[in-house]
Amino acid sequence: MSVYDVAIVGGGCVGSSAAMHLASQSELDICLIEKEHQFAAHQSGRNSGVLHPGFNYEPGSTKAKFSTEGTQRMKTYAAQNDIPLRELGVLVVAQSQKDYKELRRLHNQAAANGVTTEMLNDRAAIQEIEPHASGIAALHCPEAASIDSQQYVYSLVRDAANLGVDLFTGTQVTSVESTATGNVLRTSTGAITAAFVINAAGLHADTIASEFGVANEYQIVPFRGEYYELRANKRDLVNTMVYPAPDPELPFLGVHFTRRSDDKVIVGPNAVLAFGREAYKNTDYNLGDLRQTATFGGFWKLLASRKMLSVAADELNKSYRKEAFVSAAQSLIPEVRAADFTKSYAGIRAQLVGPDGSLVKQPLVEHGPRSLHVLNAVSPGLTSSLPFGEHLAEETLQAYP
Ligand SMILES: Cc1cc2nc3c(=O)[nH]c(=O)nc-3n(C[C@H](O)[C@H](O)[C@H](O)COP(=O)(O)OP(=O)(O)OC[C@H]3O[C@@H](n4cnc5c(N)ncnc54)[C@H](O)[C@@H]3O)c2cc1C
Repeated sequence: MSVYDVAIVGGGCVGSSAAMHLASQSELDICLIEKEHQFAAHQSGRNSGVLHPGFNYEPGSTKAKFSTEGTQRMKTYAAQNDIPLRELGVLVVAQSQKDYKELRRLHNQAAANGVTTEMLNDRAAIQEIEPHASGIAALHCPEAASIDSQQYVYSLVRDAANLGVDLFTGTQVTSVESTATGNVLRTSTGAITAAFVINAAGLHADTIASEFGVANEYQIVPFRGEYYELRANKRDLVNTMVYPAPDPELPFLGVHFTRRSDDKVIVGPNAVLAFGREAYKNTDYNLGDLRQTATFGGFWKLLASRKMLSVAADELNKSYRKEAFVSAAQSLIPEVRAADFTKSYAGIRAQLVGPDGSLVKQPLVEHGPRSLHVLNAVSPGLTSSLPFGEHLAEETLQAYP
């Protein structure tokens, strides 16, 4: 049996960052356990790769703090480690007076969070940055950037390994026996004993937490985000990143255009209720996951909201009907046509839902017996991952028996 001081479950950006920070701050024997044969196989490698510099988040909130600090730290980390990153800036475009009011609110919020933004108050100013974008006004944030998120996670893992962290890939934690003296993790490749466990299992974090008797009232509900890609000869329609004005009640930012660090332009993601935690195609399903969702009271309370029902129907439409997806994209860049889009990858967001049906919007970490559980690492979880991982390392050192 392998024996460690700390076992970290989950080789995404959060678990890898926690491993790197904990190893650099302590002499503890640490291992990082990942069920897939590669790191960043789920959310951390299937996202938009955007560094969100914090204007979207309420001043004083954990998200605002982590994303503002995270953006700056990730730029430095990427430069030091040769990770592809492009500092392109983002344009959030208003189509209506309601959107315009929202952009003004974001502009003030940015100032309170120490993030530089400027209001572009007419079409000409918008088109100086994005000649093909359309809208009555826009918020421009030059600090936003796009990064290769898979290379980023691999760099964190390499740093952790160089600091002495043992890596287990292809190793799925299947159950946990937590006693007064430690934890025994039963895995697909044998047992691992650890005095303390950090649960950073992303889409499965609630399942691992329940093995410790933690957070049973919550459940992760998977929301798939699908992307199209602009054909290479149409990439010039977008220089940077173009977003719609967000709906402050929803944790998702709406279909947008992102010029990635490899120069591809991706369009999306939508936000469709997935029929499984890893159901990446709209024909995929997992009966066990479906049963869990269907027997969770919070899910039905979530759906009981008229707003959520209408959003769910709209997003489903965008998933099954390409025209509906393209139409959402055309509100930002009217010149794009369905023929310019090719189907690309999908990612699944681990959205924590409370027993009252509320979508948990802030990062949520709970302590359990000899353990720490990252229950909600929602977007911008990639942007936030350096300060978030450091925070987890500090919490672990304080709680370590
Ligand atoms: C479509 C989409 C777009 C997004 N866009 C952005 C963006 O532009 N900018 C941004 O900042 N954020 C974005 N995010 C959010 C960001 O990707 C996530 O917040 C972040 O990746 C969460 O990282 P994680 O390490 O918690 O989870 P994950 O990356 O999901 O990692 C969890 C890991 O745990 C492993 N695991 C699970 N169960 C077990 C087990 N039993 N045993 C062993 N291993 C296990 C999994 O295989 C997985 O590798 C986006 C997310 C999605 C889905």
